Amino acid sequence: MLRSGFLTLTGFGRGMRGEERPIRGLAASGATNLFPNPYPLETPKHGTDHDAWAGPDRSDPPRPVELRRYLPTDEQPVMEDSPMDRYVVSTTLAWPDDLVDRLDAGVYRDRCIGSLLAGALGDELGSLVEGWPRERILDRYGPAGVNDLPAEGAHWTDDTQLTAVVGQSLVATGGQFDPRDFTRRLVDWLPTGRGVGRATRKAIHLLAEGRRWDEVGPELDSSGNGAAMRTAPVGLIHALDPTPGELLVDAVRFALPTHGGEIGVAGTVAMAAGVGYLARRAAVGAGTFDALEFIDFLVASIAQIETSPTPTRRPPETLVYLRDRLREVPGWLDRDPADVFEESWTGAFVLESVPAAIYAFLRSPGDLRSVLVTGANASHDTDTIASMAGNLVGAWLGAGALQAGLPEWWDRIARRNELANLAEGLATLGCARVGR
Ligand SMILES: [Mg+2]
Repeated sequence: MLRSGFLTLTGFGRGMRGEERPIRGLAASGATNLFPNPYPLETPKHGTDHDAWAGPDRSDPPRPVELRRYLPTDEQPVMEDSPMDRYVVSTTLAWPDDLVDRLDAGVYRDRCIGSLLAGALGDELGSLVEGWPRERILDRYGPAGVNDLPAEGAHWTDDTQLTAVVGQSLVATGGQFDPRDFTRRLVDWLPTGRGVGRATRKAIHLLAEGRRWDEVGPELDSSGNGAAMRTAPVGLIHALDPTPGELLVDAVRFALPTHGGEIGVAGTVAMAAGVGYLARRAAVGAGTFDALEFIDFLVASIAQIETSPTPTRRPPETLVYLRDRLREVPGWLDRDPADVFEESWTGAFVLESVPAAIYAFLRSPGDLRSVLVTGANASHDTDTIASMAGNLVGAWLGAGALQAGLPEWWDRIARRNELANLAEGLATLGCARVGR
């Protein structure tokens, strides 16, 4: 599936940089945040104690990595010393099918909506126990853990908020990554953010001070999942592309402003690739997917991103590549989730939460409720794990299955119509990319 080859990153360079301006005073910029938090900061955070389970962000300077130059053209001037140069994605990674002639645009649209809505449901369910260890969840909810939403519904946290921000930026720009649009939206969003991660908050403050969009994230070098959790729209909009190359590049771009370290970027690319893979499989009528092939695709999507492993938090500290941790996931599928999560840990780190979300999806990919409940009971970063697992299962099964299978939860999805409309916008752009 994967051969050597590199994709040229386009659309950036001196011309664009020359137009960049500090983004102070964005309130007057005209950029609007259509997804502010309707429950601002006075809302209790359900006992979240980020320091206890998220640990400190790694703040070491970025590791020295090989810088790769891209051949310039008139449209693609050389980016001198751009931190983005460190990330190389494959041009030759292929989708596992050649079925685009069988594309059903209606199914694709349904999967786009399903991915965002199931992600929001996972966020809502997981937020009820965000930051809780397993013992506390069981004490409060009994042996089955948290498995239902309050009758009055719940609300999103930063996972769905930022997913919406990425989606809005893509729709507003006609499907392109525009660093100025995206950073403006991040800055506008921050005051209404709920459960904002530390790296995200710090990065947005620096962006608001006028720092370059492609320097802040690499400089912070966070190992957190703050970009991985917001990347579903990137996977969806590119799901019908002839090859996954532009999906991979855009996933890097949308990660970079806040999570520009290798592990932050790798987690983001893996999640975007997973969502795109599943939405595509459904849209071309494949009907099934193979878990091993799915993992193989994710591993291939990030094969060249990590040049060095990341230290685990669990003593004794070891060094692990995300791609190697993902390869372990199929071996977890027959095991009890509590044992898996106890072993993998489930904090707000890519190395823990991304494999945990993929595991929650793969252990029951035909059962929306099971996926969301498994993710929400993972302990610790429950909202993000359940949200990312929801993005995956929604991309596979779709909004129709969600409404039919979980009608009581369907009615409790906060701001459902707004999210669905946003997903429709992504689907329209995704279809347009292949002339549909
Ligand atoms: Mg959250």
